[in-house]
Amino acid sequence: MQHQTANQLNPRSPLVLDTKDLPRRPGAMRMVERTVPAPDGLGLELIGVPPRADLSLSLRLESVSEGVLVSGTVTGPLEGECGRCLRSINDTLDVEIQELFAYENSTTDETADEDEVGRMQGDLIDLEPTLRDAVVLTLPNNPLCREDCPGLCPECGVHWDDLPDDHSHQQVDPRWAALTDITTQKTEE
Ligand SMILES: [Zn+2]
Ligand SMILES: [Zn+2]
Repeated sequence: MQHQTANQLNPRSPLVLDTKDLPRRPGAMRMVERTVPAPDGLGLELIGVPPRADLSLSLRLESVSEGVLVSGTVTGPLEGECGRCLRSINDTLDVEIQELFAYENSTTDETADEDEVGRMQGDLIDLEPTLRDAVVLTLPNNPLCREDCPGLCPECGVHWDDLPDDHSHQQVDPRWAALTDITTQKTEE
């Protein structure tokens, strides 16, 4: 039964953690430091990790009575687009991960709800769903190139940074302009 399910995950896949050398004794620990290529579509519509970019995993695997607790950080490059001005954003992803993966056939495995805990497949842990969830929760839906990005002028679409302070599209009506001239002339006479 165990190897049947274990076959579903590929231990060589970059986001699969193999715990075979982690003793199943509560308190046993192992550190995982590894750089892996980012999977496709890691992020949100406007910002995310470019596919295949280097993701650095710095994780601690800890045996607990019912499974393995994985915690640590994942960092990598972020590319996106400012939600106000569409300028490109280059930033760094730094996301915290903490999830319990239950041993197969453990009480937790059999009693916990589907989305409450992760499930191990034999000695293998699939970190990808956990990572995707953590990344989506960390990233802003509306990323900004900088916090006070003023955005674009709605009339001409030019970035406010590139426009003079008094930029405006309220043009003086030419007829009023003519009247102003007359008034000025009269005053001058
Ligand atoms: Zn912006
Ligand atoms: Zn304008």
